Amino acid sequence: MTKPVVAIVGRPNVGKSTVFNRIAGERISIVDDAPGVTRDRIYAPAEWLGHEFNLIDTGGIDIGDEPFLEQIKEQAEVAIDEADVIVFLTSVREGLTDADEKVARLLYRSDKPVVLAVNKVDNQELRQDIYDYYALGFGDPVGVSGVHGIGMGDLLDEIVKHFPEEIDEVDDDRIHFSLIGRPNVGKSSLVNAILGENRVIVSSIAGTTRDAVDTQFIAADDSEFTMIDTAGLRKRGKAYENAEKYSVLRAMAAIDRSDVVLVTLNAEEGIREQDKRIAGYAHEAGRGIIITVNKWDTLKKDNHTLSDFENAIRANFAYLDYAPIVFVSAKTKQRLDQLPKMIQEVSKNQNRRIKSSVLNDVLMDAIATNPTPSTNGKKLRVYYATQVAIKPPTFVIFVNDPDLMHFSYERFIENQIRAAFEFSGTPIHIITRRRK
Ligand code: GDP
Ligand code: GDP
Repeated sequence: MTKPVVAIVGRPNVGKSTVFNRIAGERISIVDDAPGVTRDRIYAPAEWLGHEFNLIDTGGIDIGDEPFLEQIKEQAEVAIDEADVIVFLTSVREGLTDADEKVARLLYRSDKPVVLAVNKVDNQELRQDIYDYYALGFGDPVGVSGVHGIGMGDLLDEIVKHFPEEIDEVDDDRIHFSLIGRPNVGKSSLVNAILGENRVIVSSIAGTTRDAVDTQFIAADDSEFTMIDTAGLRKRGKAYENAEKYSVLRAMAAIDRSDVVLVTLNAEEGIREQDKRIAGYAHEAGRGIIITVNKWDTLKKDNHTLSDFENAIRANFAYLDYAPIVFVSAKTKQRLDQLPKMIQEVSKNQNRRIKSSVLNDVLMDAIATNPTPSTNGKKLRVYYATQVAIKPPTFVIFVNDPDLMHFSYERFIENQIRAAFEFSGTPIHIITRRRK
């Protein structure tokens, strides 16, 4: 299912990122030890009264060195193109400004629902002033304070009211995969090359989703796949298409619907901060991941080139140590024939279930080789474990006191599980619970 998208627009300093963080909530990130992944967020999953949606902070999308009004225009365009509901944010402290009116004029042209919110309404007195904002022509303004968390419920009520009716997607139990990455890493070229190598069943099923073109194909070994291509729907000619931050939005739309994602890097340019950010989203979403290094043809190679690149990936994407790496070229088609098999393997591992008896044998062996730690004289006791979910495989470990489970010991257990069972390409979640 595709979740509705909500975008926050407004001139700089009205409090977009503050309100964004407030709505997204304090989500505990799995990769908060990875710099650049959680900072600078412009996209987050969120939820209100059972309605799940994705939230975009358009203020975080900087489009080159363009002047300030151009930036606002591009950001408003992103919101108009990507969102189901637009939150137009203003600020009561600075009053109505020319820039607010400029944003309003841009939004008039959209037929997407717009919810007008006035931020920085930190007290009752300021509340009187929100009626000035009727003048913008978007109906009743909702007064909020991002800093104090005031009025957020009213704003969210108003947002979910405008969500589109759910559209059931066509039943399709083939493995869904997509290529994600920065602009220019070669996603479109790879999409075309992969389809060129395989037998396409149905191309570009129209109307499956707003953000993607789905293509079904049969690989040489007769396995069938659905490829989700978000690049294929590029709004050609729009300036923001080449903004690196914007590529995150494309990536998220694809990650949401994929079983396996090919995190695509550009061998010619090496690893960039934005690559890590995009990969981090895929990891957090619990999807199967294959690190795909494209443009491998562009490097002059010696005996070390491949292992050097591999080491750089492992050092930069420490949290993706489970993801296989493949070096390909859309241009020469090098190793593209290996992708279907790899995608299948990763998908199988995502769906793998381990019997409790076998799992507990591994767990007990692990504890025997590396005894559980103690904190302040209290020793962690591990009783048993059970797998509670797939996609990603999720294990609950019952212990005497979850506070005694250190990150490093949990990591050790994860490694033992990985050594005993084939979970290559998939994240594993471990939850520690007190045995009742
Ligand atoms: P953005 O540029 O629209 O993303 O704005 P920011 O979220 O970065 O906020 C700009 C400034 O306004 C920061 O100094 C915030 O602390 C402040 N701010 C945000 N929300 C509120 C609010 O509800 N009340 C007050 N008084 N200040 C706020
Ligand atoms: P996207 O923005 O990630 O979809 O990237 P494109 O597929 O549009 O490719 C960007 C540029 O890289 C284009 O000029 C492609 O011809 C080039 N390119 C893509 N893949 C390869 C490759 O494997 N080798 C070489 N040498 N060039 C490539």
